[in-house]
Amino acid sequence: MTINGIIKNAVERLKREDKLLMPDAYAEAFCKEAKIAGMLVEDCNQVDKYANTLNKDYQQELRQYHLKTTQELVRYLISKLNRMNPTNCATILAENQLLTKRVLEAVELLHNKEAATLAKKSIDIINTPNASKEQYEHYRQLWINFITSYDDAFLNHLKPMGKVYSQDLKTTIENLAHQKSVSKDRDLRHIATIMIASLVPSIASSVNDKIAKISDDLRKNPELLTSESIEKEIKTAIKLRIALDKDALKEMIQSLDMVLDKLSIQLIDMIEKSDQSNSEIKEIKKDLDNLNRQENLDFKTAHNKLYTIAIALEENTAALSKDLKAHDDEVKLLGKKIEVLEKELEDAKKASREDFLTKLFNKRALDDTLEIKENEFERFGRDYSIVMFDIDYFKKVNDEYGHEAGDVILTAFANILKQECRTVDTVGRYGGEEFMAILSETDLKGAVIFAEKVREHVQKAKFLFQNRRIDVTVSAGVSERARFPSQKSAIHSADEYLYLAKKNGRNRIESP
Ligand code: GH3
Ligand code: MG
Ligand code: MG
Repeated sequence: MTINGIIKNAVERLKREDKLLMPDAYAEAFCKEAKIAGMLVEDCNQVDKYANTLNKDYQQELRQYHLKTTQELVRYLISKLNRMNPTNCATILAENQLLTKRVLEAVELLHNKEAATLAKKSIDIINTPNASKEQYEHYRQLWINFITSYDDAFLNHLKPMGKVYSQDLKTTIENLAHQKSVSKDRDLRHIATIMIASLVPSIASSVNDKIAKISDDLRKNPELLTSESIEKEIKTAIKLRIALDKDALKEMIQSLDMVLDKLSIQLIDMIEKSDQSNSEIKEIKKDLDNLNRQENLDFKTAHNKLYTIAIALEENTAALSKDLKAHDDEVKLLGKKIEVLEKELEDAKKASREDFLTKLFNKRALDDTLEIKENEFERFGRDYSIVMFDIDYFKKVNDEYGHEAGDVILTAFANILKQECRTVDTVGRYGGEEFMAILSETDLKGAVIFAEKVREHVQKAKFLFQNRRIDVTVSAGVSERARFPSQKSAIHSADEYLYLAKKNGRNRIESP
């Protein structure tokens, strides 16, 4: 086949393949037709011819791309050349170096001494203009050593202090810082608790509103302790607290005072009512003594002890008054017995005829004798006279020398009466210091003589009491029965003349 035939076939191929008749497409179609026609056309092997002149690496690359035309080869080579631009390479290298330096500077800033030192030295090497390949290799090896020996196990030691993030040291550190502020909070809360406790009154039972409010504020927000304004409020609260305690103390002392008053009243009452050697009082005294000796005695204890003592005293006094009441009952019983005895004595007196003091006739015996005498007067006409004696100023004797002296005088006077009268006469004690003589078969004249004798005898007598002489005189009134219509009027007359004798100066006898 001729060249022209091949050209013809190539054009038809292009038409068949619906390609435009462009030089590149034509060349490719021509070479394919030539190959079919078995014709060697030098131009068709140009790619291989040029490719064989390249180095092996490029030849391999060309094979991968299946380059067929010289035009494709040229385009490949141009792009290669563009990429191999030496100024472009230098820029990239410089950028690379800058990035490495920045990374190293960042590493230098990290909190790892080994990495920071290594980074610093690496930067120095990069900055050294003629650093050798060996120097670069040396530092590359040091970095490999650092990475292989890097150990973050120390982070585990932080765990007890809070959460540790091995990937994120910043969060770990923030976490630790937060922990610290939490413990600060806890400290403040602790101080706030102490402060609140110190604001609570130790003696007074009630809490002031202001104190309660500050306590509440502190409890809710311990941070307040760091503010300045709270200082003033706390000071005021402490003052209030002290005032409350003072008031409570005052109240306690007052109540203690009351207990002491009660105690002293009970004590006085008891001592008055009972023997001081009473063992129970001794016991109480001992208790009080112990109370005195006790140091650090707090109010409540003191108050309670005193109260116990007061109660003991009260009970003791109650027991005593019960005793006294029992005794009182006994006394009343005895009183009743005495009343009975007195009545019996009275009865006995009535039955008796003798005056207990003077041993003369008593009033009862005198009355009996008067009755007998009266009967004799009426039946046999036997006259009799009556003399009424009364000791002068006898009250004064009693007042000056005592009742005992009075009794002695009464007895002595009775003896004089007995001595002066005859056996047929009757003398007796009419009452008090009044005496009566009933003189048998005696007229007024005889009776006056008798009375005069007695008066004289008394005047002369030495009445002695405790070696002291007491002057005594007596007055008397005399009457004779026969001169009166009745015994009663005779007695009455004697009485009247006695009154007259007193009136006329005493120490005298009066008669009609
Ligand atoms: P005067 O007769 O001179 O007018 O004076 P007086 O002092 O004797 O007066 P009055 O009759 O008023 O007083 C009598 C006193 O005698 C009163 C009383 O105390 C006392 N008397 C009466 N009986 C007894 C007695 O048994 N013993 C004693 N010691 N005194 C008695
Ligand atoms: Mg008298
Ligand atoms: Mg008298």
